[in-house]
Parts: sequence; structure tokens; C-alpha cells
Amino acid sequence: MKKIFNYINGKLVEPISGKYLDNFDPSTGKAYSHCPDSDERDVELATQAALQAFGAWSVLAPEKRSRIMLRIAELIEKNIDELAEAESIDQGKPKWLAKNGEIPRAISNIRFFGTAIEHFASEAHPMPGHAINYTLRTPIGVVGCISPWNLPLYLFTWKIAPALASGNCVVAKPSEITPMTAYLLAQICIQAGLPHGVLNIVHGLGEKVGSAITLHSQIKAISFTGGTKTGAEIARLAAPMFKKLSLELGGKNPNIIFADCNFDKMLEETLRSSFLNQGEICLCGSRIFIERSIYNKFKNAFIEKVKARVIGDPLFDTTLVGAIASKMHFEKVMSYIELAKQEGGTVLCGGNQVNPEGRCSAGWFIAPTVIEGLSFDCRTNQEEIFGPVVTIAPFDTEEEVLMFANSTEFGLAATIWTENLTLAHRMAAEIKSGIVWINCWLLRDLRTPFGGVKNSGVGREGGWEAMRFFTEPKNVCIKL
Ligand code: NDP
Repeated sequence: MKKIFNYINGKLVEPISGKYLDNFDPSTGKAYSHCPDSDERDVELATQAALQAFGAWSVLAPEKRSRIMLRIAELIEKNIDELAEAESIDQGKPKWLAKNGEIPRAISNIRFFGTAIEHFASEAHPMPGHAINYTLRTPIGVVGCISPWNLPLYLFTWKIAPALASGNCVVAKPSEITPMTAYLLAQICIQAGLPHGVLNIVHGLGEKVGSAITLHSQIKAISFTGGTKTGAEIARLAAPMFKKLSLELGGKNPNIIFADCNFDKMLEETLRSSFLNQGEICLCGSRIFIERSIYNKFKNAFIEKVKARVIGDPLFDTTLVGAIASKMHFEKVMSYIELAKQEGGTVLCGGNQVNPEGRCSAGWFIAPTVIEGLSFDCRTNQEEIFGPVVTIAPFDTEEEVLMFANSTEFGLAATIWTENLTLAHRMAAEIKSGIVWINCWLLRDLRTPFGGVKNSGVGREGGWEAMRFFTEPKNVCIKL
């Protein structure tokens, strides 16, 4: 079986414990590789390597850092087929999705921040006749980046790219459920000539490696994407150490459909926003609210299309719904479908495990599931499921749907479908979330602030927000 190694001080190394975890292919339910079961000793080595590298990397001219990062992006592009297949096998997502969406986005992340650093500038605040202030923005030092399993390379690079571009050295931990593409990236970094110790990747469990990163006194900032509960634990541990924190957490996003929308466009996008990547995207719209006058029309058309979605081998080009990333997550999603039934919901389609014929017959597949008949405040409609499960419900007024939308403890994203732009602007202003899409979904400009409110997170990533997070501002005041 293929063995994954840590990437520390520019080398691929075994974990100090010598222990490995099984890494599963969710489409077959079988272990297919071994992932290091690292611990705080590996994090210590990685941190020391990063500290050593920081001196030279932080003062390297931005265009030189940029050039190395662009080389990394180029090598990812060159190896896109291998990376897409690896991501699909590791995560369960359709290979075409990895090839057309996620790996290209990882390339864009690195190119975006690798070139942003050449344009990054700081402010000056003149006090006419008295003084001038200018802001120095310097890299923080060694920073920790912890990422989840749903969009593995995409989210991993979304964090490490701005951190490295702005001159920090990184100790990173990908999810132990999907370590493969971060390992392939380590090989690419070696090939691209990234100086030793600038990026270190320590594989293993959250409670060992993740918490060792969080608790390390010489790691000065943590950028985390993952579940709200884990985010709260990281904040609890990091707060007394006064670390800089960026937390991108869970969601329970509303998708609000008004009767005057462009129905066909809305229907196609709603299929995507419900089930792309098996619904394992923090931005998926899991609560669909439909204006009552078109409720039945929507329900019939939506169910017909959901039933037609091809579930099966993620390596086939025709597959629209792949496997759920892990057995534990598969069981969690299935338990929420049971909960929905107990809460009085009616499963309109899906709700069951699927066993495709052939090599994937023992994989963790769930049919895309649509549920109706639930109140807005039941657990199914309040807690994050993070799988191919959506609820649908009618609404009568703008005020009512706003109350439904804002009723959860989350506030990551929302989607609004209407041709009435006055209404759309009004709703967008009132919805409590970090992102609002009007007549679209997942349309992303990397310059825009990205993040959530309430329990969906603290801080923003993307564009200058990320570059500011990964630098420390210092005001210098000169008396004239
Ligand atoms: P988790 O919170 O379980 O894990 C995220 C990462 O944190 C993993 O690398 C995990 O390691 C690690 N980790 C676990 N425990 C600790 C700990 N005590 N200290 C430090 N690190 C730890 O999230 P999932 O991987 O299950 O990802 C799904 C969640 O991520 C969903 O809630 C989803 O909404 C959210 N998400 C948010 C996004 C956003 O931008 N807001 C984007 C994508 C996902 P290990 O895997 O070994 O447990």
C-alpha cells in the first residue's frame, strides 16, 4: 500500500512514532494507503524547521517568493490529472469535479496570492503640518494552517498561499481523512525548489497534531477551516496565548426562492447548490425556502431532477454524486435522515444508502435526499448535516422567510432567487451571513472577503483580508 510521508525541513520523512493510520477510499470502503500518525514531536520538528527558515524567507524579495510560488502552481497544472484522480480516490468526489473545479482552484489560489504579494502595499496617515504615520506590515513568523476533508487541496492552498506569499513559514495539517493531495503537493514543492522549512506538512489526527499546532508557543497565528465545535476548542486553547485566529466554520445556509425568479436557471443552480460534492461544501444551501405560489411546481420539478442524478463510481465521467468522505461521516448523515423522520419529516426522494454495482459496491454512497414537512426550528433544520440532504418548505411573506433564514446559530452564506432587485438588495442587507449570492451560487472572486458571522466563524479570508491576517501592522509616527 502507498505510504504518505510528512514534509519537514524540505524532506519527506516518517513520523517519529513510526505509526501509520489507514487511509480509506470511500468509494470502495477499503484502506488503500497509510497516513502518518504524527504527534507533538513531529510538530516540534516542523516548527523548529520553520523558525530556522523564517529569517531568509521573510526578507526574500516579494518577486522571488512570487516566482517560487508560480513554479509550484505550474507544476500542479502539469500534474492535474494525477492530482484530480488522487483527490477523487481520497475524498469520494467525482474525478471530473476535482479536475475541472478544485485542482484548478488550488492553482488559482497559489497564483493569486503569489502575484498579490507584488502589489501588496501599506497605508500612510499624514497629520498635515505635524507628522506622518506609516504602517509597516511584516510577516508574523511561524503560522499554523489546519484544513478539513471536503475540498482538500483547494482549502489547503487557500490558507498556505497567502501565509507563504506574505513571508511567513508554515506548519500545516491537512485532514487525516484526505491527506493524499497535500502529500503530492509536498513532492511538487521539493521539485519547485521551495527552500527547506518554509512549508512543513504534518499528517495525523486533529487531537494530536492539530492541538499540538494550536498549543505551540512559537506558532503565532492559526488559520483554521473546519467544524464549529473544533473551532471553539481551538479558540479556547489559543485565546490565553493571544494568538491571531482566523476561524472558518460550519454553515446551515438558506436558499430563498421567490415566485418571480428565473425558474429554469434557479432549478439548475439549486441542484448544484444542494448536491455538488455530495453536499459536502460549507456553502451548500441545505434549507430551501420557496414562495408558496410556486411551491408545488418547484417540488415536482426538483424531485424529478434529483431522482435522475447518477450516483456511483467517482472515476466515471457520468457520475454526478460520488461517495461520502468517511464511514463516520456517512453514519452521521444517515442518522440525520432518521432524525428528520422522527421529527415528522417526509422523505420525498433518496434517504437511503446506495450500493453501486462493481468495484464500488461496498462504498459509502447516499442517494440525494429531499425532505419536506419540517418546522424551521427543528434540529434537522438547525444543525449542520454537511451531506446530500436538503429540506424544502414554503413561505408566505418576506418577513417570514427572513426569520426562517436567520433562525440558526450559523451565518455563513445565503442564496436569493428573484428578478426584483430592490427586494434582493433589501434581503441581502437583512440576512445575517458573511456571503449572499443573488441569482447565482458559488460564484467566487478571490479578491472578496470570505467568511461567516455568528457560529460560522471569526475573521475573513480572501484578497487583502488574508494578506492582512498573515501580517502584523506596526504604526511608525515621524514628527515633521
Ligand atoms: P473538523 O473540525 O472535524 O476538522 C477540521 C480539521 O481540524 C481537520 O484537519 C481535523 O483533523 C482538525 N482537528 C480536529 N480536532 C482538532 C483539534 N482538537 N485541534 C486542532 N485541530 C483539530 O472538520 P471536518 O474536517 O469534519 O470538516 C467539515 C467541517 O468544516 C464542516 O463543519 C464544514 O462546514 C466546515 N467547513 C467550513 C468551511 C468554511 O469556509 N467556513 C469550508 C469547508 C468546510 P482530523 O481530520 O484528523 O480530525
